[in-house]
Amino acid sequence: MEENKHYKVVIIGSGPAGLTAAIYTARADLKPLVIEGVQPGGQPTITSEIENYPGFPDGILGPQIMDNFRLQAEKFGTTYITDAVSKVDLKQRPFRITIGRKEITSDTIIISTGASARLLGLESESRLMGHGVSACATCDGWFFRDKEIIVVGGGDSACEEAVYLTKFASKVTLIHRRDELRASKIMQRRAMNHPKIEILWNHVPIEFIASETGGLDSVRLKNTQTGEIHFLKCQGAFIAIGHQPNTELFTNSLELDKNNYIVTQPGTTKTAIPGVFACGDVQDSIYQQMVTAAGSGAMAAIDTERFLTEEEE
Ligand code: NAP
Repeated sequence: MEENKHYKVVIIGSGPAGLTAAIYTARADLKPLVIEGVQPGGQPTITSEIENYPGFPDGILGPQIMDNFRLQAEKFGTTYITDAVSKVDLKQRPFRITIGRKEITSDTIIISTGASARLLGLESESRLMGHGVSACATCDGWFFRDKEIIVVGGGDSACEEAVYLTKFASKVTLIHRRDELRASKIMQRRAMNHPKIEILWNHVPIEFIASETGGLDSVRLKNTQTGEIHFLKCQGAFIAIGHQPNTELFTNSLELDKNNYIVTQPGTTKTAIPGVFACGDVQDSIYQQMVTAAGSGAMAAIDTERFLTEEEE
């Protein structure tokens, strides 16, 4: 990477929103730089089959479609840095972006840092993370061949992960804090009708208990209706309780809503700072779909191009 380089557009984040913004800004000849972050390709790279992205009637693997996005953006002149941003200075233009010990400047910034898996916040959860507890079925499912596991959550992610994990596990118990799933009807049906999946309603984990060998032995559960406590043997636990936006870099510079999502002007991707745009899951607490993220990436690119054109006039 060249030091002190200046760009017209820097895109922070490389999921569907960021790479769509890259395709559009590259085709507008703005020569965007994408800073890919620690998880290039974003959330689709840790999911399995994507069945609801239009244009793929037989589905497509998450990592495969993101490779395609990346190649498409590269073809039109996007360049990449595979590293994480440590600091962004939005106080004056050009904006300054620090990556490790290097700094670059840009006339505009498109923020597409996405969201990360939310966790329960239990001490035993963090202690056993990677030792029986996981937040990524696609990454870790393989380790639980013929084991009994639990999945925590009641949304699309939890149902999708539960079904996916039946490929490996001998039994999957889906544990949900209410008596009704939040997931879409089709995902609910798949989970509820699967012979290897049992649903335990009205329960939440309160402690993960380690085995003598250091893995997971069982989980202590609380009934959310009665307060009753009981134990369930399981060798794996997958937490799938939603996501939180990756906005740590912007807590002091941009307006965030009560759930820490970046606030954009309605119907646009504009933040309160001229020249700074946000798209995808980092500013969308409602839809959070790959296709909506890609759509807002296109909006951010168009907003950016118009902003730069108006400035030149
Ligand atoms: P979500 O829809 O927000 O669901 C989170 C689930 O976790 C909810 O059932 C929630 O319970 C539960 N939960 C939250 N905090 C909890 C806690 N502290 N303890 C116990 N349970 C807790 O999140 P998601 O499933 O990740 O989905 C996010 C978005 O991505 C949605 O728009 C979804 O449609 C989309 N998505 C789509 C697909 C697909 O179409 N293939 C796959 C994955 C995700 P409550 O229901 O009680 O609130």
